[in-house]
Amino acid sequence: MISFYPGPSRVYDAVPNYVRDAQRAGILSLNHRSAEFENISRTTVELMRKKLSVPADYTVVFTSSATECWEIIAQSLVASESIHLYNGAFGEKWLDYSRRIHPAARGISFERENPLDPELKFESGELIAITQNETSNGTQVAVSTIASIRDGNPRHLVAVDVTSSLAGISLDLRAADVWFASVQKCFGLPAGLAVIILSPRAVQRAKEINENLHFNSLNNLLQMMEKWQTPCTPNVLGIYLLMRSLKDRKSIRVVHNQTVRRAREWQRVLKKSTTLKPLIENESVRSFTVMAVRSTAPLDEIKKLAAKNGFLLGEGYGALKKETFRIANFPALLPREVEKLMKFMGRF
Ligand SMILES: *Cc1c(COP(=O)(O)O)cnc(C)c1O
Repeated sequence: MISFYPGPSRVYDAVPNYVRDAQRAGILSLNHRSAEFENISRTTVELMRKKLSVPADYTVVFTSSATECWEIIAQSLVASESIHLYNGAFGEKWLDYSRRIHPAARGISFERENPLDPELKFESGELIAITQNETSNGTQVAVSTIASIRDGNPRHLVAVDVTSSLAGISLDLRAADVWFASVQKCFGLPAGLAVIILSPRAVQRAKEINENLHFNSLNNLLQMMEKWQTPCTPNVLGIYLLMRSLKDRKSIRVVHNQTVRRAREWQRVLKKSTTLKPLIENESVRSFTVMAVRSTAPLDEIKKLAAKNGFLLGEGYGALKKETFRIANFPALLPREVEKLMKFMGRF
């Protein structure tokens, strides 16, 4: 069964080999205070700079999930009010989690067919939260829009959820202060690890707010990362797999072109179909990495038939569960697998 689920999703074929290497090299019981771990951690960050164009002055820290990143941002980078711009279930969930920590967290929703307004300006609040790629409905926000919102709100930090786009498309990380993603989507790795990428301004803000109540307080993570360590025993195998897979990865420019080419190919397939069409009609906001598909034929039948042919499709998410299914367009999916599914979809 080939998983086209938009997370957890297909992992790279090399993963079992990396795991075997890890077992042989003693990584599975490696002490996280050892020089060997520090070396893996440092190398992973260096490879993120090289392969994902993480700027030299941005800091990387490890966490366990994107959900944890939502909480860390609320607890450690916001004193009272964050502003959440969202058009789907993941952005809304981020707002919900933030509200539990700071009741003043404010949500501003926008239509999924409409581009986010790049001219938005806010009088109050300290941090603007944007979900760049909304996995639930297959929309994306242009990085130029994120950059413009940051320019228009110089007192605010801009934090961006790129869980289903980082490592799949090219992102100018200088356009915002905080970026985060877990690895079970575009990174093509097993779940249980996430990364936060922080601008010097975000690091400075964490120091000013000086929140130190939690094991995963950002200051604590940053301080430990100065020695390439983490506050608790981290997912050492996950970090090792990230290091190995980044080493074997092409640069994000190359990956980006492949992702966009495939996304266009999918649009052509859907255009030809009589029963299937993209949920998102406005091409300018359609995601490159997650396709939400609407069908006039009963969805259950298509999904069942797909399963019979060896394809696991993503269920619709949240309120869209009944009307849509989703197809991941992540880098680890092999060209022949994608072609096979396209051919199958061509029957509808
Ligand atoms: C999958 C996803 C999450 C949640 O990721 P976890 O690692 O399960 O916490 C958050 N945001 C977006 C946009 C996602 O796609």
